[in-house]
Amino acid sequence: MDRIDIFLEKQRQEGKYRILQPLVYRKSGRICVKGKEFYDFSSNDYLGLAEHPSLKEAAKKAIDEFGTSSSASRLLSGDFEFHHRLEAKVANFQNKESALIFNSGYQANIGIISALCGRDDVIFADKLSHASIIDGILLSGAKFFRFKHNDINHLEDFLKKERKKYKTALIITESVFSMTGDKARITEIVNLKEKYDCKIMIDEAHAVGIFGENGAGLIEETRLSDKVDLIMGTFGKALGSFGAYLACSNEIKDYLVNTCRSFIYSTALPPAVIMANLISLELVKNEPWRRKTLLENAYTFRNNLIKKNLQVNGSSQIISLVVGDSFKAVKFSRLLQENGYWVLPIRPPTVPEGQSLLRFSLSYNHSKDLLNKLADDISKSIPKLN
Ligand SMILES: *Cc1c(COP(=O)(O)O)cnc(C)c1O
Repeated sequence: MDRIDIFLEKQRQEGKYRILQPLVYRKSGRICVKGKEFYDFSSNDYLGLAEHPSLKEAAKKAIDEFGTSSSASRLLSGDFEFHHRLEAKVANFQNKESALIFNSGYQANIGIISALCGRDDVIFADKLSHASIIDGILLSGAKFFRFKHNDINHLEDFLKKERKKYKTALIITESVFSMTGDKARITEIVNLKEKYDCKIMIDEAHAVGIFGENGAGLIEETRLSDKVDLIMGTFGKALGSFGAYLACSNEIKDYLVNTCRSFIYSTALPPAVIMANLISLELVKNEPWRRKTLLENAYTFRNNLIKKNLQVNGSSQIISLVVGDSFKAVKFSRLLQENGYWVLPIRPPTVPEGQSLLRFSLSYNHSKDLLNKLADDISKSIPKLN
């Protein structure tokens, strides 16, 4: 027990101790915690689809027809026609030959990366990459270099020095960064990928549903789907449901079906989830006003904060306010809570030491008036921080 005690005490002292906080409900841009209601700036349900009547209807109908479980892994007898219907739809949505569904984004990343890379290979990943990407890399046993966040020159330095020493090379980045909300320079990264003969994997967890003409993500917006070998996305954020996908070539899909352990050794997603996912892809295409309004509001909010001389990041529906110190970030979040906003502090190890921040996750459910009031209240909280 000694080791555990010491660890927990250290977390407390450094302002990094984490606790679970159960919600009573989450509804229309608000959440209820311990009987009190707050404006919710912590949800990834960016478009409000998790409450969409069509999604709920599809899930209920699926349960009535097929029950509550897929009852086996895909390679045994958990593979239904609707899984294939969803994969065909994702492939079409992402403009790739093929797609494979995963039980979550975490499982997708650890499984895909560790199946495709091994000891003889090299991986280059952005320093702010999500934990699931890092874990996939560690599991693969590949040699691993992390380039400074969004620093193309640093990436190229690594490529120049290291690429030739290895058989295959994979570059990995998120397209919209989950915590800071800024966008990767994907056009430039894709150019480097071509120049140095690498494969590239892009995690669109926070971009799918938000960017692109049809809401397929930043790769659609930059028209790079042909050049991106592995497009990963999730259903649990803007798509309002659960699960994840990889859009790729037929060959890579076949290889993963035969080798990817997080795909092979896990029960297939249940019918209700797959049916909801099918509908959510339709909704994203057919209700573009949701993402348009959301992005307009996000840009206004961001500019408001900048006008108030605050240091913000984020050129998406995620806006982050740089705080630095962990304790200060926690205090800031408490002050906003007292004003009725649920905004979470993001601390190490999620972000590097000394770069704690407040993450504002905006949604279609937040009105312009609410965002203006929030910007004012943020500004008023600053003097109370010290
Ligand atoms: C949320 C997230 C994941 C994990 O997806 P889940 O479906 O929640 O497991 C992977 N990558 C990024 C960048 C994410 O933000």
